[in-house]
Amino acid sequence: MKTLGLIGGMSWESSAEYYRLINQGVRERLGPKASARLVLWSFDFAEIAALQAAGQWRALDALMVDAARRLEAAGAEAIVICTNTMHKSVPEIEAASALPVLHIADPTAHALKTAGHSRVALLGTAFTMEQAFYRARLEERHGLEVLIPEAEDRAEVHRVIYEELVAGRIEPASREAYRGVIARLVARGATAVILGCTEIMLLIGPEDSAVPLYDTTRLHAEAAVALALG
Ligand code: GLU
Repeated sequence: MKTLGLIGGMSWESSAEYYRLINQGVRERLGPKASARLVLWSFDFAEIAALQAAGQWRALDALMVDAARRLEAAGAEAIVICTNTMHKSVPEIEAASALPVLHIADPTAHALKTAGHSRVALLGTAFTMEQAFYRARLEERHGLEVLIPEAEDRAEVHRVIYEELVAGRIEPASREAYRGVIARLVARGATAVILGCTEIMLLIGPEDSAVPLYDTTRLHAEAAVALALG
């Protein structure tokens, strides 16, 4: 079994899910006593969120590269970044570290294409929905057509992530708001929705959507198990 290096704490609410899902996956494959070989670098998310809000992406790249180096020094053989947004730093991590990075968009796109989806909606932070680093990977590398919510809906999806979900708050009113956002994306032709933020599955589930939801946390954790076990 390979040792995985997790870059987490973004937020710890979803890192805890990664830890549970990866260990469960290894147990299912190897037996009841088996568990994953993991090294975790867990950030103070307040520091990360402040830099994101200030647009300090070079400083964030430096923190992500530093985290990858620490994991490599601690014996990690591959890097798993436990958030969609900070995949923005993947090129810098790949340039600075010899370790492979398991990109969260790849198992997600693979699952969507296997199920026959080509026009998909993306929910996530404003950075993930609006910037090229994530969508371009889905569109150019995987040939998916990606729809994002209209501006007002994007602002609400982003607000709920940073004000509620990373703080462990699950609000019924926000679930209702997300249901509306999803319905409008489905009306525009999306046949599936990517939960492209690792906390969204804490808020919504299949009953909140007329089309299938693709939970990046679960898909990424499953791919991490497959990578660890070869
Ligand atoms: N966990 C979220 C994501 O998947 C948001 C936190 C972050 O900005 O890293 O994008």
